[in-house]
Amino acid sequence: MSFYQKQSTDVSRLGLKCPECGVSIEKLPFKPRRGMTIYCPECAKKRKQQK
Ligand SMILES: [Zn+2]
Repeated sequence: MSFYQKQSTDVSRLGLKCPECGVSIEKLPFKPRRGMTIYCPECAKKRKQQK
């Protein structure tokens, strides 16, 4: 186990899908909250860059 590894939460059992592109999300760098809209890493990145 590396101290430097990025933390990621396995969310594959939640069956989450990105509402933007429809890709299934298996891992997140954070714990999802109920009712939270979860985007795939790519769309999350795009949304962060947008204002
Ligand atoms: Zn996406």
